[in-house]
Amino acid sequence: MDASVPFVCRRCGACCRWPGSVLLEAEDVAAAAAALGLAEEDFIARHAALARNRAQLTFKEAPDGACEFLQADNGCRIYAARPRQCRAFPRGWRVAGCPGLDPG
Ligand code: SF4
Repeated sequence: MDASVPFVCRRCGACCRWPGSVLLEAEDVAAAAAALGLAEEDFIARHAALARNRAQLTFKEAPDGACEFLQADNGCRIYAARPRQCRAFPRGWRVAGCPGLDPG
């Protein structure tokens, strides 16, 4: 995606509800664990699962399929420590219908 495309987050939460995995890298696990004050082993036991690619960890999902760190106000509980995949939105990937990308 062109980095010059304007984007303003409207806090719709659609990117955090999009079906699929939040794929984690080692530094993502370390950052999220630190943000929650947990040892990495405890963080993994409580909040991670094997991703469908069977090569990486992913965050567990809420019962409705959203990321478990998505809060009721559509904020991210670990925003400052969110994974690289999340930080790449919407420049590296995007979801259909994101109002933040709507030029209107
Ligand atoms: S970690 Fe935060 S930004 Fe990433 S999907 Fe979960 S709630 Fe959204």
